[in-house]
Amino acid sequence: MSDHPRLAPLLVISGPAGVGKSTLVDVLLAQTQLPLRRAVTATTRKKREGEVPEVSYHFWDRQRFQDALARNEMLEWAEVHGRDFYGTPQVEVDPYRERGIGVILVIDVQGAGQVRARYPNDHLSVFIAPPRFEDLVARLAARGEPEESRLRRLNTARQELARQGEFDRILVNADLPTATAELEAILRDEFQRRGR
Ligand code: 5GP
Repeated sequence: MSDHPRLAPLLVISGPAGVGKSTLVDVLLAQTQLPLRRAVTATTRKKREGEVPEVSYHFWDRQRFQDALARNEMLEWAEVHGRDFYGTPQVEVDPYRERGIGVILVIDVQGAGQVRARYPNDHLSVFIAPPRFEDLVARLAARGEPEESRLRRLNTARQELARQGEFDRILVNADLPTATAELEAILRDEFQRRGR
């Protein structure tokens, strides 16, 4: 897979569960003037309350996911938290970039590694880090998840934090408005770098 220097930006965002990356991207998309969209990714996990199919995620069963992989339709994929498959359908990305719309992927560190291998010079990766590890523990506890699932997420979080050095930028999310402004500035530079 080759790089596409003339396409609109591809921004990969990763970071541990509970660090606030989804909120950060939602706020950015709500207030930015930049032409941007968040890719709707696919997952085999069950829909949570309040989630909307085809908006929050494409909710696929394992067979459908395996079929998409076999047909080479996924840009990247990973088994997250050691049990569910998550992945980005290619059609969520390239057609938009070709039309000048920057695409944001909020994916785990394994998926970010695959995008890096596939498009080495054609994406920008940002790791969202918590000011302190204890903040994550507190945020995950506040979500009221069962103990087992909370511990699994904390374990994944530890592994993800260990890989933050692989990213182009590290953005510490201490304060939402500041972090949003920083992310927007990163994207504005990336649009400019690509002559857009
Ligand atoms: P959740 O189950 O809480 O919605 O998401 C769990 C994790 O899966 C998050 O860290 C999220 O970034 C990651 N994730 C969501 N979609 C994708 C995807 O398409 N690919 C990969 N690799 N990770 C994803």
